This record gives sequence, structure tokens and C-alpha cells, in this order.
Amino acid sequence: MSFLKRLFGTPKITIQGMDIGELMQQAQQGQQAQTTDIGQLMAQATANMEALTGQKAEPRAQLVKKTNCHTCGAAKTLAPKTAYVYCDFCGSLTDYDFQKACENPQSAMPGPAYEQLIHETNADAQLARRTRDKEAFLAIQRRLFDRWVDLCPNAVSPRAKQDERYRKELVEYMAQTATINEFDETYQQYAAKVAEQVKGIAWEGMYPRVTARGDTFWPLYETVSQQLEHSYSILRPAGVLDLHPDGAPESLQRRMTMSMFCQGWLPTLGPADSEKMVERAGLKGEYSVLEPVETSTRHCGGCGGDLQSLPGSKVMLCEDCGTKIDVSSPEVNCKNCAGMISFPVGVNRLQCPYCKSEAQRMSW
Ligand SMILES: [Zn+2]
Ligand SMILES: [Zn+2]
Ligand SMILES: [Zn+2]
Repeated sequence: MSFLKRLFGTPKITIQGMDIGELMQQAQQGQQAQTTDIGQLMAQATANMEALTGQKAEPRAQLVKKTNCHTCGAAKTLAPKTAYVYCDFCGSLTDYDFQKACENPQSAMPGPAYEQLIHETNADAQLARRTRDKEAFLAIQRRLFDRWVDLCPNAVSPRAKQDERYRKELVEYMAQTATINEFDETYQQYAAKVAEQVKGIAWEGMYPRVTARGDTFWPLYETVSQQLEHSYSILRPAGVLDLHPDGAPESLQRRMTMSMFCQGWLPTLGPADSEKMVERAGLKGEYSVLEPVETSTRHCGGCGGDLQSLPGSKVMLCEDCGTKIDVSSPEVNCKNCAGMISFPVGVNRLQCPYCKSEAQRMSW
């Protein structure tokens, strides 16, 4: 059993084919000997990103990554609050913003409560592996991911916060992915090679800026890319890519997976290798300064918070509570408190977010 496994248990957090628990921890473990805590290490990710882009974390909030919606074609106009970029006009997931993800890198660390569950389920998982019992393994993965989504709400889409169905679909997608990878021999061979290469990373520099030597990191990057490639080649025919709860196209699913890997390793690389990695992983993106736009204020039927909607928008996501809001029809006044409400898509009656009395969508 590797040092890594002993340190962190055997987490099987897999997002679209990669074991993100391992991806993040590999990087942290590598520096274990030289640096103090994970918080400090992860803060370096932000510093790295700033050095890379020449932008501070603060002004970055005013930048919008240039991206077009794969569903309706609209350009992203409003600055997203999270790494999950939803279309301002139709509410589809259109992109994943790596810079945004790096602003809150600790969000992917589930902590002791999760470790405890891993520990509890470990024996059963081992048994399922040995007896090739996919159903049993899948059931364990569902429990693990369900907990993970609970503990790391900022690592997943805001939609998982309140939308039970979305959350269920997300857990299923992740659990299926983990199970298919687990029972695939080639995938496991790649995983073993990755573990070997992580152990072979040579570290250089002086505390607090210890970095992975490029000639030992890049072979690892290659293997992870191949592993990802292979994973998609088995997930695709199994129909798992179609299970993505946002209906994200494969290219976007891939970028999200690579982002997990890059977030984990970014703090450990020197500036040149950082830039090369972000570039090669297709995560760089072009940013434009947020232009002032004409918006109208709507009121989220899920949480009561303000939303700024663009002219012509039909559906938008409330990034605070994760509810998809219908902004194509007029707002409704609550009969009890007179508060303004925009209804969630497909919902005709709800509890008023302000006074908790029942409110109904108008029928014309
Ligand atoms: Zn759209
Ligand atoms: Zn809301
Ligand atoms: Zn009310």
C-alpha cells in the first residue's frame, strides 16, 4: 500500500473518469515533507494563477471568460459567481471557469466526516472489488458521492444545493463513472502507473516554494491524459456521458475533469510549467472585461435573492440557491406580503421565499 493510500485512505471520488480525491491528494502528498498545511499549499494555487494571468483575485471577479452557449449560441455576458458557468439566456451549463475554481481551491476537500465514511465502507468496497460485484460497488459509490456533494457544495454546481433531482442525477453520474473505471483493467493499469510516477516526482527549491521538477512531472501528465482518454472511450459506449445532469457536451466534461487534476498540481509547479499545463489542458481561456449592460432586477422564487437578467433572457440560474428561474414571464406579487417573485421553471405554486405563505403563478 502506498504512502498516499495510508495517509488518505482509499478515496474513490471520481469525476468523469478521474479519481479526484487521488488527483488532489497526490499533489498535496508530494509536498508533505516540505510544507506545512494544505491551506497554505492551496493558497499557492491562487498565487500561481495570479502570476500566470497578471490579475489579482479581486479584479478577476469583474472579468468574464469568453464563451458561447452550446444550446442557444448566446455569448456569456454576466460575471459568474462560481466556476460553473450557466448561460444568461437559457440557463444551460456552458463552461467551466478554471480561474474561478482556483479562487476557492479548498472547496474540493471534504475533511474528516468524509474520511470516516470511507473508513466505514472500505471493507465492503474491497470485498466488492475482489468478488467483482459491480452492483455492490456501485451502491457504495452512491453513498460516498452523496456525502461528498454534501460536504463540498462549492466543488459542484450550485444546482445541487436545493434541486433534489439534479443532485440525485449528479451522484448517479459520478458513481457510475467510478464503477466503470474501477472494473476496467486498462484503467487500473494507468492508475498504477500514475501512482508510480507520483512517487517518482523530484522536488526542488527551498521552503516555502518547493516545486515539482518538470522532467518528472510531464511523464505523469502524459499518463493522466492517456488515462482520461481511455476512460472516455469506455464511458461513452456505456452511456455514462449522457447521464451528466446538466447535459454537458463531452468536451466540457473533459475540461472539468482536467481542471480537477490541474487544480491539484498547480500549487506544486513553477511558473513556466504552470502555464504550460493550463494551456495544454485547454483551461486557459480568454477573458474580457465586464462591460456595463442593461439588466432588470428579478426576484428568485427559490431564495428571494435579487437576480439581474438581460433583455431577451428566458431562463437563468440563481447562483445563490441553484434554482433555474423562468424570466420570460412577468413577476408575480405574493398575495400575502406583496413581495415580487419570479417562478422556477416548471413550477406553478411555491412557498413565498419571504413570508412562507403559498404563492401561485398567474394563469392568464
Ligand atoms: Zn444558452
Ligand atoms: Zn435563488
Ligand atoms: Zn410572501
